[in-house]
Amino acid sequence: MASKDDRILLTRDRELARRGGAQAVYVVSEDVMEQVRQVAGLGLIEPGIRMSRCSLCNTRLRPATMREIQEARYAPRSTRGKEFSWCPACRKLYWMGSHGDHLEKRLKESLSP
Ligand SMILES: [Zn+2]
Repeated sequence: MASKDDRILLTRDRELARRGGAQAVYVVSEDVMEQVRQVAGLGLIEPGIRMSRCSLCNTRLRPATMREIQEARYAPRSTRGKEFSWCPACRKLYWMGSHGDHLEKRLKESLSP
């Protein structure tokens, strides 16, 4: 599938990586920051925190409407300065808040020499 879609398969499965050949990368570490470092080192990604895909179903997110934000009971009360996205498949609201800031900081620290 990866080769048909012109994608690179990232996997912790050695056998699958071997079968994928040039279209696959065996991800060595179980630690996510090490994984990012490895894949960035191969020039496959430019590390950064982006809210572009749903973490549950991988559907591309779109900007949330005011109504979607207001109807999500788990949304933060203060929307000021936050960017909201919506998964149309799961009907799930995402936003950049302290968790995203924390991840961004960890990522920068992890990748700095
Ligand atoms: Zn989703």
